[in-house]
Amino acid sequence: MRAKAFWLILVALGLGTKRHWHILVAILLGVILGVYLPYPTLAAEPDSYFFIHEFFNIVGQLFIRLITMVVVPLVVSSLIVGVSSLGDSRQLGRMGGKVLVYFLLLMTISAFLGAGLALGLQPGENLQQNLLAQANVSSVIQQLQQAPHTDLQTLFFNMIPRNPVESLANADLVPVILFTLFFGAAIASIGEAGKPLINFFEALFTATMKLTDWVMIFAVPGVFSLAFTTVAKSGVGIFSDLWLYAATILAGLLIQMLVIFPLILKVFAKINFTNLYRAISEAIMVAFGTASSSATLPITIACMERRAGVSNRIASFVLPTGATINKTGTTMFEVIAVIFLLQAYHIQLDAYSLGMIILFSIIASIGAAGVPSAGLITIAIVLNSIGKFQMDYLAGGMALLWSLDRVLDMCRTVVNVMSSCTVAALVASSEGELNRDILNNHDAWTEVV
Ligand code: ASP
Repeated sequence: MRAKAFWLILVALGLGTKRHWHILVAILLGVILGVYLPYPTLAAEPDSYFFIHEFFNIVGQLFIRLITMVVVPLVVSSLIVGVSSLGDSRQLGRMGGKVLVYFLLLMTISAFLGAGLALGLQPGENLQQNLLAQANVSSVIQQLQQAPHTDLQTLFFNMIPRNPVESLANADLVPVILFTLFFGAAIASIGEAGKPLINFFEALFTATMKLTDWVMIFAVPGVFSLAFTTVAKSGVGIFSDLWLYAATILAGLLIQMLVIFPLILKVFAKINFTNLYRAISEAIMVAFGTASSSATLPITIACMERRAGVSNRIASFVLPTGATINKTGTTMFEVIAVIFLLQAYHIQLDAYSLGMIILFSIIASIGAAGVPSAGLITIAIVLNSIGKFQMDYLAGGMALLWSLDRVLDMCRTVVNVMSSCTVAALVASSEGELNRDILNNHDAWTEVV
């Protein structure tokens, strides 16, 4: 009876209200259904819900494909519009410097907070050692082997495109952004001659945003399917073994969301965080559903421009760069995950190693792409910074992290997106380009999706 009432309330909530409520209800329903209709735990077992799983798997993947399809043209057009409207290269340098300082500030705070929590709560200290031995090691080694190079030098060189068209075709956003920044600055510097190109990219930007609106029609079934298949696949059992590890990460992410960002917004720009978070609610939910800040980017831009009152010039410059390099949630995750591994294997952690973990977690999270599990792969960079660990030695622990990563990834992606929106709002405010009448007036907001 109670369960029935619960379902009825959820359905009633879902109907008749705004689209962001629909998405929230879709996530909740997806999670509930995922608990009830799990995938078999052993690969050999038959899947009794095969058709349901397959169907929603396809719907979820379709949604991700559709939004990802918009990302490359959007990043290029929005950055060129943003950069060329900044005018001369001195303005670009000033603005770029400001944005970078904010990004680094947030990531540094996040890394220290993560270290404090991991050392205080000690999530890996009393881990049952048999869990490490039982973990499914072969799949993690295979996944890590498929991952792109994770040494620092390669990471650095990969930022500079050998051929921008190749980077575009591979959707490698960091080199694409670097090239686009320079290209936008070059267009701005040639004055009148660059006008046709600016007009072209402005039109491309507007058309891509229109496409985003169309794709977002599928947000409700898409996010429902993603939440359902994720929970059905990962189950909830793993949380009971690793609950302290998950709780440490979630506590850190919540502190960022509810204390750090609000404080910074208040102190630097007198912005009430509830208004900003309401404005970007769809982006938050899509980030949660897709675990990809790149895929969420089109919705993030739409929310920030249409609801948060951030000018197009700032949004189109800060948000694409943020989605690629500003990953506060990932930074914190990397710090906690590495300290967890060291604790689980009883490896001594001295002050020097701790410093290296903090520094390299920032670097590794900058290097992580805005796609699912990217942060988990770049953990290798942090581990390398404190000594060469044999992959086989830590593989059990890595496999454990892998087994519960998706849900944590969804949560840290939300923080990544929020953090870039926070920086966009701060920069807009300091440049006098934040329209507070729009941000504070919820009734005037247009539907984003
Ligand atoms: N999924 C995250 C993002 O897209 C990156 C990560 O931490 O894995 O922002």
